[in-house]
Amino acid sequence: MATLLFHNIIFGPVQSRRLGISLGINLLPAHGKWCNFDCLYCECGWNADHRNDRRLPTREQVREALQEKLQRMQQDKALPDAITFSGNGEPTLHPQFPTIMDDAIALRNRLAPQAKICVLSNATNLHKDAVFHALQKTDKPILKVDSAIESSIRRINRPQGHYDIAYITEQLQRFNGQFTLQTLFLRGLFHGEKFDNSTPEEIGKWLDIVQRTHPREIMLYTIHRDTPAQSLQKLAKDELFAIAQQLAAINTWGAEVRIAE
Ligand code: SF4
Repeated sequence: MATLLFHNIIFGPVQSRRLGISLGINLLPAHGKWCNFDCLYCECGWNADHRNDRRLPTREQVREALQEKLQRMQQDKALPDAITFSGNGEPTLHPQFPTIMDDAIALRNRLAPQAKICVLSNATNLHKDAVFHALQKTDKPILKVDSAIESSIRRINRPQGHYDIAYITEQLQRFNGQFTLQTLFLRGLFHGEKFDNSTPEEIGKWLDIVQRTHPREIMLYTIHRDTPAQSLQKLAKDELFAIAQQLAAINTWGAEVRIAE
């Protein structure tokens, strides 16, 4: 297993499958992971293996680091396509996430106006108004829902506290479609429990959430890198295309569907 942590506030840029040349922002500990999920496929590894560092970067540290990096990229004429909040866990857990977002947007406007501000989030903090409004200000809030069935979410994403898919769906509806829905499809066995979020029942219930939330973009993908759980199976490209075809049949509002196998 070769999961990895990001040891700086700013990382990359990396060539992203989904976002182009993307400069990353890690608001989580530099030498630890902090997430309210503990996904079987998390590229950062298990929560339990990364509890040694709990220090979060301050708003000022993030602003300075981003400014310095963008100025350097500007001088090198190599500005990014995206500035993406992701890193070692769930970015919206940072208590200053909303004001950090304001700083990032101001710096982007000044130094890299063509770059899209993106956030990879597990959608669990949308009930916090400041987080919701900060996400609304971004170009691309990318919100994860891997299953519409709570028992599957408990097996795959392993939320560390209360999780209510009906409530999350209501929160997603508040975006009026102005978000990207991201779903990772996989199957496997972990601690004696099987899971597969691509069965007909799973897809039927997931399509129901898609129809109720009308995301303007939907990203379907599967495992790509090393994962902390060893028994996971990625879906074949054909299987992802078959899900996309089912999506096409209900996609009356013209959502853009992207597949990254
Ligand atoms: S939500 Fe993201 S950061 Fe959190 S455990 Fe899952 S994959 Fe890792």
